[in-house]
Amino acid sequence: SYDYQTDDPSLWDAIKNESKRQENTIELIASENIVSNAVRAAQGSVLTNKYAEGYPSHRYYGGCEYVDVVENLAINRAKELFGAEYVNVQPHSGSQANEAAYSAFLNPGDVILGMDLNAGGHLTHGAKVSFSGQIYQSYSYGLNPETERLDYEAIRKIAKKVHPKMIVAGASAYSRIIDWNKFRKIADEVGAYLMVDMAHIAGLVATGLHPSPVGIADVITTTTHKTLRGPRGGMILSQEKYGRQLNSAVFPRTQGGPLEHVIAGKAASLYEALQPEFKKYSQQVLQNATAMAKTFEASDSIRVVSGGTDNHLLTIDLTGTDLNGKEAQNLLDSAHITTNKEALPNEKRSPFITSGVRIGTPAITSRGFDEKDAQKVAELIIKVVENSEDQVILNEVKAEVSALCVTHPITR
Ligand code: PLP
Repeated sequence: SYDYQTDDPSLWDAIKNESKRQENTIELIASENIVSNAVRAAQGSVLTNKYAEGYPSHRYYGGCEYVDVVENLAINRAKELFGAEYVNVQPHSGSQANEAAYSAFLNPGDVILGMDLNAGGHLTHGAKVSFSGQIYQSYSYGLNPETERLDYEAIRKIAKKVHPKMIVAGASAYSRIIDWNKFRKIADEVGAYLMVDMAHIAGLVATGLHPSPVGIADVITTTTHKTLRGPRGGMILSQEKYGRQLNSAVFPRTQGGPLEHVIAGKAASLYEALQPEFKKYSQQVLQNATAMAKTFEASDSIRVVSGGTDNHLLTIDLTGTDLNGKEAQNLLDSAHITTNKEALPNEKRSPFITSGVRIGTPAITSRGFDEKDAQKVAELIIKVVENSEDQVILNEVKAEVSALCVTHPITR
């Protein structure tokens, strides 16, 4: 009989190796997490076989009675979790959620104003290499160079100058609380829609650890796989009055058949996010990020952008070391600590090199790291960047990383 694992080793060995890599690595990429067995089982289920173009009770295919149950569960759980009137769980990714959200409110050529990629915004917030900067006329705002935080007065001035039809708030690498009400005021002043992309902080919003944009923004997009700890995918939240235009912007305008197996994974993760344990987990994510920021700030070589963090991530400034962001990322990789290089506010180097590294705690917290462990990880990172030429020290760090991974197995 066909044994897929032995008959197709090139594929299955790669998957097994990735599993081992995850087990043996301290994962600090701020946008990643480790999902539960329930999420994986739902995503690997027979639902992948089913076509279901349309929406529950309004499908273009027969046989949709059970995928309707699945999709309604995901929608209703997301509504309950975030207190939203309208939810669309079909976007295949965060980028596609953003594409649909724009197209529901804008015409090609309309002006959008989002956070600059270098300051911590996402590609889809108007970068010229993305559809968002090609279909729409995009402008950007950055951070205050002194505080390294959002400067709402500066954003207001840009908005008054460029007259956006939509302002995009939210970020991929911003470690401070975002004041949605201030964005709302600016949007109202210039007659713009307000879109919030809460991809990074969705889990924190769900648990009340970051203020919610629900009831403030016209439309909210998110990924489901970051702090929310669900399968890779996207989601849109809004008010009922925008429901029809958002539904048709997702399907049929920008997508075809929904991935019902992924939607089942979303439903499973939303169920988990509604349990009291998820709030405890999210609190620990924050405590771990704070513990790391404090440890870096106390070092002689590393500074934390904006001096600390209010959420699950931080960007460290390496200009006081011999390494740029790319070198630090590679060196940490060799010690089995996974991060990504990150531009600093006022970055002097190219985006391929950078002078910073972004660090996030959702994944290590999912495997049980507490503040003491997080502090230890920060100490190991400091050791690596301060001793980049010393192979003996690098080997010591590798051994300590390995020990931390063994004592914190991925059990979910
Ligand atoms: N929005 C933000 C703020 C993000 O950080 C990301 C991904 O990192 C996305 C959207 C895009 O998500 P995806 O990679 O699923 O397209």
